[in-house]
Amino acid sequence: MLDSKANNSLWADSKERFEGKSLDSNLDFDVVVIGGGFSGLWTAFHLNHLEPSLRIAIFEAREIGFGASGRNGGWTSSEYPVSKKTLIRKIGLPSTERLFSALSQSINEIGKFAKKYSPEANFTKSGSLYFARNEGQLRRLKAKPEIGEWLSENALRDLISIEGALAGRFNPECATVHPYNLLQGLAKSLNKKGISIFTNSWATRVDGGILASSFFIGAPLVVEATEVYGKTNRNFIPLYSLMVATEPLSNSIWREIGNKERFTFAENAHVINYAQRTADDRLAIGGRGATLPFGSKLQESRESHQKVHKRLIALARSWFPALTNVEFTHRWGGAVAITRDWEPYLQFDRISGFGKLGGYAGDGVTMSHLAGKIMAHEILDLDSELRSLHFVNRNIRKWEPEPIRYLGVNALIYLSTISDLEESLTNRSSKVNRFIEPVILR
Ligand SMILES: Cc1cc2nc3c(=O)[nH]c(=O)nc-3n(C[C@H](O)[C@H](O)[C@H](O)COP(=O)(O)OP(=O)(O)OC[C@H]3O[C@@H](n4cnc5c(N)ncnc54)[C@H](O)[C@@H]3O)c2cc1C
Repeated sequence: MLDSKANNSLWADSKERFEGKSLDSNLDFDVVVIGGGFSGLWTAFHLNHLEPSLRIAIFEAREIGFGASGRNGGWTSSEYPVSKKTLIRKIGLPSTERLFSALSQSINEIGKFAKKYSPEANFTKSGSLYFARNEGQLRRLKAKPEIGEWLSENALRDLISIEGALAGRFNPECATVHPYNLLQGLAKSLNKKGISIFTNSWATRVDGGILASSFFIGAPLVVEATEVYGKTNRNFIPLYSLMVATEPLSNSIWREIGNKERFTFAENAHVINYAQRTADDRLAIGGRGATLPFGSKLQESRESHQKVHKRLIALARSWFPALTNVEFTHRWGGAVAITRDWEPYLQFDRISGFGKLGGYAGDGVTMSHLAGKIMAHEILDLDSELRSLHFVNRNIRKWEPEPIRYLGVNALIYLSTISDLEESLTNRSSKVNRFIEPVILR
């Protein structure tokens, strides 16, 4: 039996825990997947669905749900790390539309899966809401019709009562999930289909397969789905995203707040934030703001950055004064992988039989399903439109070497915080932000 939590999140308190096998001999498979998060599991899922005869194994260094997939905000959204406007400029309207339609289809497919095999994920497709609380935020929201349908102050208040909210935009293409439970449901269902899942098995790719726990696992095809919790390299930086969650809130507090539909929501600030009403009636809210460690090395201490946790609690209380005396029972964090141009990567080389996928920034819950499906199409060499999506098999632009990376990224994090402060104090669009936007490439 597992005796420790997979991670320190609210979600990992769950009883829905998949226990993997331990490795005790050399083995052979057709496909080996390294990494037991959404990317790895969805890749195995799609491969098995398309070619059930394949012998597939997944190797996870810790437990299923240890990584970002078991810690995230549960937004199963059609959002993409690069804005629609920038994408249209880069790849044109038809390609942009194909990408967003593929993401919407993935949301529905995740929903179909969750309903049948993972009801504990409480998948609820009830949309997402961005709201503005000052003139700077309002101006940016007005300029982004792609975020969703415009909601006036009154229309917004009918959905949710947020202190000082001026207007919002609502997008129906988003679902709320319990991410850890979804992942455990996925692991259990793959296991039933005959896919071998090994946990506590750190894997390293070698000629002809992998090495894991001193055993050789032969496989002509290897997929690396380790994202930010894998080896550090200059293909991505790990940016920390932290979360807090309240105790279950009373009916009277939720009557005051609203959001009985459980749509996800966020303030349209420069520093990313995101929230959901959980199925057990807590408020879970997350956000960025922790600095990048030197050398892009993961540091567990960043997951419990007190200042960021305190700022999140203060933000939640400023939205909902009814939370003033409510206890925040959980504090946790994790990292997201951000590539230099904010685009995900998915590469498969038929000659070596090696593929890798990741780099979803904070938008990996839906993207990993889509990327896993495309990886399966690549491996099976299917004639599929998805393989021509613009991020498939592209070259990854490397991040700058240190100390430029450390200084540059942390300066931008700092300036984003200043921009938000400036907008809340002046009630005007931030002047500081004019220097940030051209460098961020989004
Ligand atoms: C706090 C937080 C909030 C977020 N909120 C959202 C959100 O609301 N919506 C959204 O879409 N996205 C969100 N994200 C991003 C999203 O969670 C990730 O993009 C996604 O889960 C990545 O999935 P993955 O399978 O690629 O990586 P992971 O889930 O990180 O899985 C990688 C796994 O690989 C394992 N591993 C690493 N190296 C090895 C090795 N050598 N051998 C074996 N195993 C190895 C790790 O232990 C890990 O379990 C959030 C992320 C965080 C941290």
